Amino acid sequence: MQSQARVVIVGGGVMGISVAYGLALEGWTDTVLIEKGELTSGSTWHAAGQCPSFIANYTLAKVHAYSNDLYAKLEGMTGEATGWHASGGIRFAMNQMELDHFKRVEGVAALMGFRMQVVGPEEIRRINPFVTTEGVLAGAWTLDDGYVDPSSACNAMSKLARGLGATISRHNRVLGIDRLPTGAFLVRTEQGDITAEHVVNAAGCYADKVSAWLGVSTQFANMKHQYVVTGPVKEFVSRDTEIPVMRDPWASSYYRQEQTSGLIGIYEDHDTEEGWAGQTPPWESDHELFEPQLDRILPNLERVMERMPVFAEAGIKRVVNGAISHTPDSNPLVGPAPGVRNFWLATGTGIGIAQGPGCGRFLAQQMVHGDAEVNMLGMDPRRYGDFADKAYVQAKSHREYWDMYRLVPPGEERPEGRPAKSTPLYSRLAAKGCVFTEGFGWERPKWFSLDGREEEGTFRRNNVFEVVAAECRAVRERVGVMELPSFAAYGVHGAAAEAFLNRVYANRMPRVGGIVLAHALSANGRFATETTITRLAADRFFLLSGAVAHQRDLDLLRGAVLPGEDVAITDRTMDFTTLIVAGPRSRDLLTRLTTTDISTPAFPWLTGREVGVAGIPAKALRVNYVGELGWELHVPMAHAVALYDAIWAAGEPLGIADFGLYAMNSLRMEKAYKGWGAELTNEVTPVEADTMRFVKLDHDFTGRAAVEAVLAEGAATHLVYLGVDALDFDVAGGEPVFADGAVIGVTTSGGYGHSTGRSLAFAYVSSGHQAPGTALEIALLGERRSATVLAEPVWDPANTRLRA
Ligand SMILES: Cc1cc2nc3c(=O)[nH]c(=O)nc-3n(C[C@H](O)[C@H](O)[C@H](O)COP(=O)(O)OP(=O)(O)OC[C@H]3O[C@@H](n4cnc5c(N)ncnc54)[C@H](O)[C@@H]3O)c2cc1C
Repeated sequence: MQSQARVVIVGGGVMGISVAYGLALEGWTDTVLIEKGELTSGSTWHAAGQCPSFIANYTLAKVHAYSNDLYAKLEGMTGEATGWHASGGIRFAMNQMELDHFKRVEGVAALMGFRMQVVGPEEIRRINPFVTTEGVLAGAWTLDDGYVDPSSACNAMSKLARGLGATISRHNRVLGIDRLPTGAFLVRTEQGDITAEHVVNAAGCYADKVSAWLGVSTQFANMKHQYVVTGPVKEFVSRDTEIPVMRDPWASSYYRQEQTSGLIGIYEDHDTEEGWAGQTPPWESDHELFEPQLDRILPNLERVMERMPVFAEAGIKRVVNGAISHTPDSNPLVGPAPGVRNFWLATGTGIGIAQGPGCGRFLAQQMVHGDAEVNMLGMDPRRYGDFADKAYVQAKSHREYWDMYRLVPPGEERPEGRPAKSTPLYSRLAAKGCVFTEGFGWERPKWFSLDGREEEGTFRRNNVFEVVAAECRAVRERVGVMELPSFAAYGVHGAAAEAFLNRVYANRMPRVGGIVLAHALSANGRFATETTITRLAADRFFLLSGAVAHQRDLDLLRGAVLPGEDVAITDRTMDFTTLIVAGPRSRDLLTRLTTTDISTPAFPWLTGREVGVAGIPAKALRVNYVGELGWELHVPMAHAVALYDAIWAAGEPLGIADFGLYAMNSLRMEKAYKGWGAELTNEVTPVEADTMRFVKLDHDFTGRAAVEAVLAEGAATHLVYLGVDALDFDVAGGEPVFADGAVIGVTTSGGYGHSTGRSLAFAYVSSGHQAPGTALEIALLGERRSATVLAEPVWDPANTRLRA
C-alpha cells in the first residue's frame, strides 16, 4: 500500500465510497479508502435499499435528489447492474396535521422537481389494490422514490472512483491515527502506515472509536432495526407493476414488494435497543446480523398484516436485524470534526443508502473548495458540544428512532435528554410558566404560559399566538426582559487583536467602546459566521455569536492565528448569561439600577462598556435583535438570579413582562433582521444577502477578492424581504416562491409581526425579481399566497427607537 495520500477515508460503506467518488469528481483523486472487511460489510449490505423523495427539509431534499439522480445513472455509467428503479412511494396521513405536513413537503418537492401528488383513499387503493385504507385521510404519492441494491450500487460507485484515480484497500483495518507535528495524520493500518493531509471518518457504527483516536466525540447510537421478508405473495406473481413503498404511521412501518415477496420494516416506538449493548462493535464484526427479535415488532407486524392481508398468507421467510447509526436529531454527521483541522466526518446516517451519494458529494465540495453548494449547518458535526454526552445521545437518538414515522408538529417539545444545559435562572423562570426550547443544549425561553395553557402543536397559528402578541406588545410599548443564555462568547486579546480581527472579519473593528456586527467569510466570500464584536479596550475585544456557532467559531478563530501573532482567544461561553432588557421604558428601568449615565449622549446605540447593574458587574451592550431601545447585559452566571430579580422589581411599576424566542422572532422580522444559518449561509456572499453595509472593502480580509468578483459580475440571486398575504399560517422557511407561475426562489424564514399585523418573510429569488414592489407568490400549506417585495423594515426603518 502507498505510504502517502492526500486523503485517507476510513470505512468502505456507502458513506465512505460516496466521499471517495465525490472527491474524485471535485478533482481530488489521491485518495485511499481503507476498509477492514469487504466493501459494504458494515451496515450497508443488508439495507432495504429504499430511497425516498418525501423530504421536508430543503437541504436534505437536495441530498436525496443528488443520490436518486446518481443511482438512476450508475448502471449506464458503469455497466454494473444496480437494481435501481423508481418504485414510487405512498405515505399515509391519518389526520389534518399530517395532511398539512404533506402540503409543506409538496412545496419542497416543487423546489426539487420531485413528482408528488396528494391522493385520496380511493386512489391509494387503485395504485395498491392490496392495501386497506381504514382511517387514512390521504396519501402523499411520491413517484420519484426509488429502490437500489446497496452493495451493487456501492460497487458501481467504487468502480467510478477507482477509474478516476482513487485507491481502495480492502481487508485492511485502520489500527490508529496520530496527528503529526506538521499537522498531517499518520494512519496506522494492518498493511502499513500512511501519511495523509486529510482523514475522513466514514466508519459507520465504529465512528466513535475512530474519532476517539483524535480526541473527538461523535454523537450517535447504533440502533437495532429489523425488517422481515415474506414468502412469495401469489397476487404479486401475476402483476407486471410493482406496488410503491408504503409508509404507514399507524403501523410505524414501511412495506413494499420485494420481487414476488413482501418486505416489511418496523420502527418500533418503545423499548428500542442498541446493538452490542450500546458499545462500539468489536472489530471482528463483519456482515453481522443480530438474532431476530420478532416479539419486539409483533404488534406493528400485526397492523401491517391488517393493512396488507396478502402478506398474512405469505408467512415470514427471513428476518434482518441490523444496526443503524442514529443521531440525536436524525441528521447525518457530515463536515469538519470539532477541534482537529482536516479531520472530517461522514457518518451518523440512519438512511445512508438514500443520503450517501449526496452527503459524499457535498462533503467533497466543502473539503476541496471550502464551501458546499448546499447549506451544511444542519449536518455539521460541530452542532454538538460537550453537553452531548452518552446519556444525552442515547435518550435523544432512541426518541428520534421512535418518531421516524410520527410527525413531530411544530411547537412540540420532547423531554428526552433535557435539560442538558441551563443557567441558575432556569427554575425561577420555569416557576413563572416559562416554556423552554433547546438550542445547542441550552434551555431557552420560548414563551410564557401565564394561565397554565399548553401549546397546541400545529403548522398553523395556534393558541399561543395571542400570548406572543402580548409579549411583543410589552417590548414595543413598555419593557420586556428575556434571558438568552445561549450566546457563544469569546475574548480576543493582545497587541495584534485588532489586526487579527480585521483580517478575519469583513467589517472593520470599532473604536474603544464601539460595537460592530461582523461576518467572517470563507475564501469564496461566503458566510462562515456572524459575530457581534465589542471593543472593550485598545487590545481587548468581546465577541458574541449564535449558540450553535460555539465550536465552529473557536475552530475558525484559533485556526486563523498566524505563528507568533500576539493574539489570545479565550472561550467565555460558560462564564456568562445574557439578560436582554428592551423597550421604550428600558432606560427608565436601568437608571433605577445603575449609577452609570445611560443617556444617549453618554451611552449611544452600538456602544458597550462594563457597568454595575444592581451592584452586579455586567458587560452592557446597547444592541438588540428586537429593534427597540435596550441593552444586552452579559453577566457572570452566578449573578443571573440576583440581576433578574432586581430588574423585575425595578420594572414592575413600568409594566415589565417576560418574553421569549417566539416574540423575538416576530420582533426581528418586523425589523428585517437576518439570521445566520437561515439567510446568511455558506451558500451565499454578502452581495446576495444584501449585507454589504457590514463589509468594508477598504481593508484586506478573508474572502474580499471573492466578494469583489461577485460585485463585479452581479449576483444571480438576491435576498428579499416580503410582506405576505397569509391566512392562518406564516412562512417557516423552505417554501417555494413563484413569479408568473414558475418557481423563482425559496423562503428562508418568516413569521407574523404582531406590532404591525403583517405576515413577513425572507426569500432568495433569482435576478429580476428583487425590486421593491415586485409581486410574487409563495406556496403556503398548498395555497398560493401573494407576497410583495418590501423596500424597508415594516417597523421603525430609520432606527429612531434604537437611537432614542
Ligand atoms: C435493517 C436495515 C435496513 C435499512 N434500510 C435502509 C433503507 O432502506 N434505505 C436507507 O437509506 N438506509 C437503510 N438502512 C441504513 C443504512 O444501512 C445505513 O445508514 C448505511 O449503510 C450507513 O452507511 P455507512 O457507510 O455510514 O456505514 P457502514 O456501511 O457500516 O460502513 C462503515 C464501514 O467502515 C468499516 N470500518 C470501521 N472501522 C474501520 C477501521 N478501523 N478500519 C477499516 N474499516 C473500518 C466497517 O467495516 C464498515 O464497512 C438500513 C439499515 C438497517 C440496519
